[in-house]
Amino acid sequence: MDQMKIVFNKPYLTGKEMHYMYQAVYSGKISGNGIFTKKCHDFFEKRYSFKKALLTTSCTDALEMTAMLADIKPGDEVIVPSYTFVSSALAFVRQGAKIVFADSNSRNPNIDTEHLEELITPRTKVIVPVHYAGIACDMDPIMNLAKKYNLLVIEDAAQAVDSFYKGIPLGSIGHMSTFSFHETKNINSGEGGMLVINDEKLRNRSEVIWEKGTNRSEFFRGAVNKYGWVDIGSSFLPSEIIAAYLYAQLENLDSIQSRRKKIWETYYEGLKSLTELGIMIPFIPDYATNNGHMFYLVCTDLRQRTALIEHLKNNSILAVFHYQSLHKSAYYINKHDKREIPFSDKYTDCLVRLPLFYELSDTDLNRIIDIVKEFFIKYE
Ligand SMILES: *Cc1c(COP(=O)(O)O)cnc(C)c1O
Repeated sequence: MDQMKIVFNKPYLTGKEMHYMYQAVYSGKISGNGIFTKKCHDFFEKRYSFKKALLTTSCTDALEMTAMLADIKPGDEVIVPSYTFVSSALAFVRQGAKIVFADSNSRNPNIDTEHLEELITPRTKVIVPVHYAGIACDMDPIMNLAKKYNLLVIEDAAQAVDSFYKGIPLGSIGHMSTFSFHETKNINSGEGGMLVINDEKLRNRSEVIWEKGTNRSEFFRGAVNKYGWVDIGSSFLPSEIIAAYLYAQLENLDSIQSRRKKIWETYYEGLKSLTELGIMIPFIPDYATNNGHMFYLVCTDLRQRTALIEHLKNNSILAVFHYQSLHKSAYYINKHDKREIPFSDKYTDCLVRLPLFYELSDTDLNRIIDIVKEFFIKYE
């Protein structure tokens, strides 16, 4: 029988997006920082006690803003995990930073905090923990090191909306944090992102950098009587049309999250017996929550992973691997200090992500689980 193809991701439409976009368009104010942008900011600030939220056109943009706010200069060092998306490092490289790559830990791809202190030098300015799959990094040791060495912590929370560390929302712990609303994330606006400012000292400057280096935001609050060029910056704010789309998603955050978590738990229950064969499933430490962003397996080697992806493909199921260690990338390999980063390489070779999206049906979900299990029973 011909099976229907199961895609890896399908962006979910709540149904209200077009309605709000229509409102935005006909309001006559479609540039940035209007009514829908404010609604989105309020939503995040209230729900997760972020000191300040600023929508951006992507998480990459938000990261670039953090590099400006951290005042990164040539020669400064920034500690970033090697197993992450390019943008986590790229934003700082654009300001001339040297990236010092950290390894992941043995139980999940998050940054290894046990060996973090060894990477700090007098030139270190920033640590960038990435909450992989929306599962929290161990933030206490990271914040303690930051305090001890006077560093900034910038959480790359691109995948971590609505997830927590010891009950505290991710994105509210570091001095700054960034989120993504790319179509592959839980909440999306096609392309989109957000900068969160938790350190009061960075608040005013963040608005200036957001609006092309001008004090336009202050002007509109009535705090100054004219506005002009006061600092560096760029055009980081999305139009109201994008904010309107995003707001429709936010209104449905709870139902999106509960369906995604249900799918994740079904995978977890269905596949946890694979650990007996040496296959790793997502590990959620006691201090962390799961936000249903991603379900992955870590195979025993590259050959096994390639065969699994092939087996799923032959059954019309699209599963995909993820990052390639950044310290071995074409752009950075000659700049890296030659240290081995073994766990990052392991996840590069062995991690595979299974389809997870709101509209994935229970029938398809159970079929994926059966076919994954069937593969491991036969594989040798
Ligand atoms: C998706 C993602 C990004 C980039 O987000 P964009 O909004 O596409 O710029 C950055 N870091 C991580 C960890 C991501 O998962």
